[in-house]
Amino acid sequence: MESNKPKIAIVGAGVVGLTTARILQEQVPGAQVTILADKFKQDLVSTVAAGIFRPGVSFKGPTAQVTKQWVDDSWHYWLKILKTPEAADAGVIQVSSYIFSKDNPHVTRNHLIEDLVPVYRPVTDEELKLAGGAGWKYGAFYTTVLISCEKFLPWAEKAFLRDGGEIIQTKVDSLSSLTNYDLVFNCSGLGAKYLCNDHDIVPMRGQVIKVKAPWLKTAFYGDYDTYIIPGPDGVVTLGGTRQYDSYNLEVCKHDAAAIMERCVELVPGLQGAEVVGHRVGLRPHRSPVRVEPELVGGTKVVHCYGHGGYGVTCAPGTAMHAVKLGLDLLKLKNKL
Ligand SMILES: Cc1cc2nc3c(=O)[nH]c(=O)nc-3n(C[C@H](O)[C@H](O)[C@H](O)COP(=O)(O)OP(=O)(O)OC[C@H]3O[C@@H](n4cnc5c(N)ncnc54)[C@H](O)[C@@H]3O)c2cc1C
Repeated sequence: MESNKPKIAIVGAGVVGLTTARILQEQVPGAQVTILADKFKQDLVSTVAAGIFRPGVSFKGPTAQVTKQWVDDSWHYWLKILKTPEAADAGVIQVSSYIFSKDNPHVTRNHLIEDLVPVYRPVTDEELKLAGGAGWKYGAFYTTVLISCEKFLPWAEKAFLRDGGEIIQTKVDSLSSLTNYDLVFNCSGLGAKYLCNDHDIVPMRGQVIKVKAPWLKTAFYGDYDTYIIPGPDGVVTLGGTRQYDSYNLEVCKHDAAAIMERCVELVPGLQGAEVVGHRVGLRPHRSPVRVEPELVGGTKVVHCYGHGGYGVTCAPGTAMHAVKLGLDLLKLKNKL
């Protein structure tokens, strides 16, 4: 009976909210799922991200095992979309990437994905010469996927609505006010700082430049400071900055100049590339990322926020975990 179906709210329409919504619809067909959010698509940090699947080695869940599970589950989720005819519309593409370092061999390693992606290997001496500028001593080459949220969010939103979901634009003032829902997923990113009075979540400011460089097919990292990531439609993201506890959403011309200088040094062919935009976003940094249930004044809540610089990468794995916790909370599994 329709009225027996659980009413579920998701706070947040970024990559975490939308993957949670889609996974819920898959696992609980017929649930009445509503997304509540005050901002969408272009106004979100999710669409600032280049969206490359590469968790930093510091990305952290409650245990090393859970972290690895999140990464593995996420990889398989994105790979499944990549293998469908929908991939291009969903903004999921395959990319290859070099990562070079001047002084630190460990920067080129990544224990979270080395066993997961099809190729992850040290570079040859010839490949090391692909990096512009002097002093690059270490490097790795790997293949991965990239998820452009400019495409993925509208694609997922359309599928969510098609499958009976509802979207309401609203600002949620407190989770405890959402009493007319059986279950609430809190995917509010940096908004959780206020919704949960969580002092552990901190903005990590990131600024990037978008340029037209359709000839560039491979991503380049120079240590962790400099990155050049080709996305769909010939637009390449140049970065970046990681400014801890900065709330500044304005484009800084000094950051832009430094990013351009570093990127052109690493890939000289970018000199003179047409700049199509500058973007700034605040990564919702929290260590560990919070995926856990809580009863908030009578409302059953599962938190899923604080993904920092790796929310596009790891949204699906954390969402699957959150959905499992939510279903346990509702004891839905036996009923449906
Ligand atoms: C420069 C830069 C580059 C990046 N590159 C990558 C990358 O290559 N790979 C990667 O994996 N990640 C990358 N990231 C990180 C990634 O962008 C984030 O981790 C991810 O977007 C976080 O998603 P989210 O859904 O948690 O947050 P958001 O996209 O911020 O969404 C939060 C949602 O919650 C809603 N909300 C919040 N509070 C309330 C409230 N009180 N009431 C109603 N709604 C509310 C908001 O309106 C919004 O809809 C990058 C980030 C930056 C800044």
